[in-house]
Amino acid sequence: MSFNIDTIIYTLIITTIVMVIYLYMELRKKLQKPEYDTKTLLKCPKCGYQIEKNYELGEFIGMVKGKCSKCNTPMKIIAIYVVEKRQNPEKLKNT
Ligand SMILES: [Zn+2]
Repeated sequence: MSFNIDTIIYTLIITTIVMVIYLYMELRKKLQKPEYDTKTLLKCPKCGYQIEKNYELGEFIGMVKGKCSKCNTPMKIIAIYVVEKRQNPEKLKNT
């Protein structure tokens, strides 16, 4: 027998360490990957009231959608854009 128990244990320890590092790196990669949200900006042509909401499939700039919560005039989509999702809840308080 060329194997001895020390070699096996040593190999197992090394393998475990490598796997833990690999998993840790994968987890970090996942956590750091920025996530994006598509937003639609609606504007009331009458009073200028603006509202931001989540983009829905089929929406386009210039489309008339929803009604102004202030004067009940149909609102128009004036912008569609992408924003980075905020993962820090502290930041949300300031906006
Ligand atoms: Zn309005």
